[in-house]
Amino acid sequence: MSKSGSKSSQKKPVNKNSSPSQNLCARPINDDTDDSIFCEGVCKDWMHRTCAGLSKAAFESARESPDDYFCHYCDSRCLKEEIKALKWRISSLEAEL
Ligand SMILES: [Zn+2]
Ligand SMILES: [Zn+2]
Repeated sequence: MSKSGSKSSQKKPVNKNSSPSQNLCARPINDDTDDSIFCEGVCKDWMHRTCAGLSKAAFESARESPDDYFCHYCDSRCLKEEIKALKWRISSLEAEL
């Protein structure tokens, strides 16, 4: 009983794109069937609505909004920077008291 090459585990080809974003998935975006949105943050790329964590309503409003869209990944990065800046301001204000 020496069967070889009959393993049922099929390996799917993995695209190893060196993406700068941690948010983008490997699935291609189908313009006809997938809702997609462009992140103006670090990603600078299109992503699926679901990957961006947007509800249908949130997606529609984000699309209609003239403001640039930032995905939750880029958004949290920006917020972190803002919090840092605010903390720094608070400590400098406290020093003045
Ligand atoms: Zn995706
Ligand atoms: Zn992003």
